[in-house]
Amino acid sequence: MRRLLSPVCPLLLALSLTSTALSAQQAGKPINWDQLRDETVRVLADYLKINTTNPPGNELQTARYLKRILDREGIEARILDTAELKPAGRANLYARLKGNGSRKAIALVHHMDVVPADPRYWSVDPFSGLLKDGYIWGRGALDMKGEGIVHLMAMIAIKRSGMPLNRDIVFIANSDEELDGSGAEVFVNRHADLIKDVEYLITAGGDNKFENGKLAYYGVGIAEKRTFWQHVVVRGTPSHGSRPTTKNPVPRLVAALDRIAKYETPLHVTPGVDKYFRDIASSYTGEQKQWLSNVAAALENPSARAWILSDVYWNAILRNTISLTGLKGSNKTNVIPAEASANLDVRLLPDADPQQFLATLQGVVGDSAVHFENELNPKPPLESPIETDFFHAIERAAHDRDPNAYVTTPMLTGATDRPTYRKLGIVTYGFDPFKVETSDAQRGVHGNDERISVANVGFGVHFLYDVLRYAQGGQTPSVTP
Ligand SMILES: [Zn+2]
Repeated sequence: MRRLLSPVCPLLLALSLTSTALSAQQAGKPINWDQLRDETVRVLADYLKINTTNPPGNELQTARYLKRILDREGIEARILDTAELKPAGRANLYARLKGNGSRKAIALVHHMDVVPADPRYWSVDPFSGLLKDGYIWGRGALDMKGEGIVHLMAMIAIKRSGMPLNRDIVFIANSDEELDGSGAEVFVNRHADLIKDVEYLITAGGDNKFENGKLAYYGVGIAEKRTFWQHVVVRGTPSHGSRPTTKNPVPRLVAALDRIAKYETPLHVTPGVDKYFRDIASSYTGEQKQWLSNVAAALENPSARAWILSDVYWNAILRNTISLTGLKGSNKTNVIPAEASANLDVRLLPDADPQQFLATLQGVVGDSAVHFENELNPKPPLESPIETDFFHAIERAAHDRDPNAYVTTPMLTGATDRPTYRKLGIVTYGFDPFKVETSDAQRGVHGNDERISVANVGFGVHFLYDVLRYAQGGQTPSVTP
């Protein structure tokens, strides 16, 4: 039944294009998915050509680009926050496709900025938007201009098809996600009224596992770690290195860091992580399957615990983590510096209390001369519910494509803008509409030769279209009469 209703069936599509063209126009126009894919590829290629390396960002250019397209399609769009965002040349963009308003809205959010790209390490110009070997190449193809254009084109396809909407669709493009997240912050602080009717929001943070052409699962981000970066400082008295002194801050810092490095944070299983392990257990056999089916119990068992924690990702989603990353003493070998400092990349579980964690860390160090300074205040905690209409819409659209695949909830160890929106009470999900090979994502995201395949762009725009269609609730709107 579902298959018959789905506009994916080429036979039905062909039929509706010929014999029922007139009624199709009245009830909604059928979509030519190949054409839509090719159009999406062209729009993405031009988007990638606009250099929004952050810093400085220059997202006003991309906001104007998106607005031109939305204007052409008759979708209300506004460029916002140009005066508030710094430095000059930045902007957020907001657009809304109106439905009948009987249910709450859905927001599609992406960021327009990209991290720097060093052309010396790329095999193509990172801002060429080049189409080569079945891929569109460019900084941002995966993170996350590709998703942004899929959001845009799925919304445009809905408008063109005349699909009746119970939920408005809101499109938001933010600046500055890659550095300070000021785009989403300013947007939420200044324009909460524009999104007060939004119930669900999707943005970066999905994690579909696709390896060697095979899908292991669709991963929807419901939770993420909270960055709580610390600058650790010890102050001393500068003097000549030829006369060792107890006022040298370097050995004192080193001793503190040694204690931190040896400290093992406690293990803790959050609800989404528990579901994730139970879901993936089905791909294992024997005792490993048993362990993953009840990870909290397995962590009590030394051999299970050692096996689970040997995976750097699993280790990171089961505890608060501390990575010692930066270290600074004197810049001259013969000078005892006035100050020694280090940087700790601390990532907290969503339900951890930052102040309590800091107190624990101070206790571990046990030296009042060692000062902890917040480099970055943690964003609000993020753990969204799983039993929602929208999550089920994702599951349904995923099963249409891969009947045996499951939709699970891996925790994101990095940070997105989702918590900024979550604090308004919006249920936010990390949803990635693509099947990108793990190796491609590892090389490309924040790395070199970032690219996305043409096939993935076509897959993504259709996938998201179906999710948005299923999420309308009630009778599933269909474009095929
Ligand atoms: Zn990024």
